[in-house]
Amino acid sequence: QSKKRGKASWQLFDPSMYESSLRQLELERDLRLSLENQDFSLYYQPIIHLETGRFLGFEALVRWIHPRRGFVSPAEFIPIAEESGLIEPLGDQILWTACRQIKQWLTQFPHLVDLSVSVNLSSKQLQNAKFVETLDRALTTTGISGQYLKLEITESILMGNHESLTSLFRSLLKRQVTLSLDDFGTGYSSLSYLHRFPLNEIKIDRSFINRIETDQQSREIVKIITTLAKTLNMTTVAEGVETLEQAEYLRSMACDMVQGYYFSQPLPEAEATAWIMNHAATLTIMA
Ligand code: C2E
Ligand code: MG
Ligand code: MG
Ligand code: MG
Repeated sequence: QSKKRGKASWQLFDPSMYESSLRQLELERDLRLSLENQDFSLYYQPIIHLETGRFLGFEALVRWIHPRRGFVSPAEFIPIAEESGLIEPLGDQILWTACRQIKQWLTQFPHLVDLSVSVNLSSKQLQNAKFVETLDRALTTTGISGQYLKLEITESILMGNHESLTSLFRSLLKRQVTLSLDDFGTGYSSLSYLHRFPLNEIKIDRSFINRIETDQQSREIVKIITTLAKTLNMTTVAEGVETLEQAEYLRSMACDMVQGYYFSQPLPEAEATAWIMNHAATLTIMA
């Protein structure tokens, strides 16, 4: 017992722990300030239809340029925003920005009837009973139809109450948004949960894609996911595609869409707009 306590009190004074919790506290404080100053922006990564090479839309990814620290990864600050409750106002800002951006692109490129922008949602946002209201307000005020919006959720949310989730998903689907399951294969639920929810799309996690050339097992898992998705009437997106070889494998497995550095990095707004101009007509990215 005393040994344990000894260890615990030693940990209190571990300087690296101290530094990282200090950094967390500072980041939380700065998140608050940056929210007021609207220091966040969205980058947009193109998503491509594999069979035709056509450009279909973007995934919106939040970027924070911290006044002193510079770029801070969303992988670091999103969890802090979730723990501190700041994900609500931040998530709202992200959703509104994405909707306004869709409106702007649709106005500028009226022929882009198939355009879609995917927005990542934190489970915390969906657990808020007001989420559908928030979504409605964003859609109505910016004047876009839900058909242009995809909402990316993660498997962890599916652990919640099945009935209330299903009814939430159904009200979202009524708004014509696409429901996309992000990072598929890394969570708890995976295959056994899929058929229980009305979801439209699966995003196959990057960790399977980057082993696809070298690891037989990853290849088989991807094949199973794309086959299952077809059976369940869902589309598939492979994330983190970095090489032509990976894209070729995915094509042979009838994966529907791809996204990754091989095609493009996430782009700031102006470059994303330029991307649309260069690729919207009839794009063939792959030979
Ligand atoms: P995610 O939703 O799975 O997003 C894909 C991540 O993979 C992005 O990282 C993207 O920049 C990166 N990526 C894309 N192509 C490649 C590739 O070819 N190779 C490699 N190595 N990486 C690639 P990012 O932007 O750093 O975001 C990390 C995570 O942070 C996201 O993972 C998502 O979970 C979260 N996130 C990002 N933006 C938002 C947001 O607006 N709201 C919420 N709630 N979470 C967000
Ligand atoms: Mg995502
Ligand atoms: Mg993902
Ligand atoms: Mg991921």
